Amino acid sequence: MTSHDDRLKDEQRTAPSSPSSETRKTTTVSLRAPSFAHVSQLADLIAEARRYPQGVSRADLCETLTLGRNAVDRRLKTAVELGLLAPAGRGVSTGGRAPEMWRFNPRAATILAFSVAYRSATVALMDLGGAIIDRISWAEGILSDPQQVTDHAVEHLMALRGRHPELPPAWGLGACIPAPVDFRDGTLIPPATARAGGAADTLAWTGFPLRQQLSRRLDLPVWLDDEVNVMALAAAKRIGAPPDLLYVRLSLGLGMGIVSGGQVHRGAAAASGEIAHIQMAGAGGRACRCGRRGCLETTLSGGAMEDAAVTPQALKRSPYLRRLDESEGVRCEHVFRGAAEGDPVCVRLLTEAADRLSVVLAVLTTTYNPGEVVLGGGVAQAGEFFSRAVGQALRRRVLPATSERLRVRMGGADDTLSGACRMVTDALLSAHVMHVWMPHGSPVGVQEVVTHRRQDA
Ligand SMILES: [Zn+2]
Repeated sequence: MTSHDDRLKDEQRTAPSSPSSETRKTTTVSLRAPSFAHVSQLADLIAEARRYPQGVSRADLCETLTLGRNAVDRRLKTAVELGLLAPAGRGVSTGGRAPEMWRFNPRAATILAFSVAYRSATVALMDLGGAIIDRISWAEGILSDPQQVTDHAVEHLMALRGRHPELPPAWGLGACIPAPVDFRDGTLIPPATARAGGAADTLAWTGFPLRQQLSRRLDLPVWLDDEVNVMALAAAKRIGAPPDLLYVRLSLGLGMGIVSGGQVHRGAAAASGEIAHIQMAGAGGRACRCGRRGCLETTLSGGAMEDAAVTPQALKRSPYLRRLDESEGVRCEHVFRGAAEGDPVCVRLLTEAADRLSVVLAVLTTTYNPGEVVLGGGVAQAGEFFSRAVGQALRRRVLPATSERLRVRMGGADDTLSGACRMVTDALLSAHVMHVWMPHGSPVGVQEVVTHRRQDA
């Protein structure tokens, strides 16, 4: 390292505290703000390390980031001081001495996540890498009163933090909801169903200051997005994920998230992927909750499956549904789980859904040519059988040029939580946001970060 290097001045301002343990509660990095160029390169270096859980070598970092050895060393030093990178032993030798390796340290801090579904909600305490440490779920969702759901979420989030005093503090909260969100400032906008003139069941949430309430009451920066976008983000950040993919969420309702070039695509009015209310059957079709008739969701959704399961259940044709408490009625989750157990009625309902979905996906995949179609939401409980059924039906409908590099797979049961966590860590470890909190050593309590209005900047 040369002390004549002007760029070095930036690094000297960040105090050289060396963490004694990977799990740190406080950080002593302080002093004046580092230059934006330094933070920008540091953010790139951390992002690169996050792509390789086994660790990266200095030589790899120099090559990928097109930085000199000294520059990489200085950024590595800062990242280690912040607790975000840790030594990962030695890598594989390519002739000489085996190189030293560094890896991202997911235990440097914790992240909170809050996922609202249709009839349930979940909060989780996670590490920076998206591993779930603890969680609480309860039976209340977007069909319930927004204030009540938010009050309970805050209560449970505080309980989660209280249950793990030994862990480092939470750096932020990621929240998601199965309704459209203007991502610029995280406001809940009217669903497409409302614009179509229908009595939308989620309308009570429109304009509700969910993000502001969570941020103020927990004193944390909060990022909020539509559930399906967050799920698509989780799929996009999986190791080995293709840069272009479609995420179909099949729960009580139907939704789609689009990832293009590794980024979530939102569209001009945050309405991209609103496939549920495409009119398929014309005016003669079934009435939809949006107030029109014949929408795709009336024949392809968990709600449609619940309707279709009423008769077989009443006629006791399904061994699985027969075991359910009849007063409770059939829920789409029952149909998904019944299919996983091989119940013939549930399997038939999902095979029909797979065929209907393949019609829509044939158009979308031929147009967009994604590398992956991920099927998630409640239907993830149906297991691999559903992705095989969709894959087979889809391959019959499209040319090999579209299908030969297309993988159809099931999403994870926790894609909402891991996507919400990822949304927060990506933002907090971006150059613009790091530049604000770095002089303080961590984002904890930095009001400029906690109260930030624009989520996309
Ligand atoms: Zn509709």
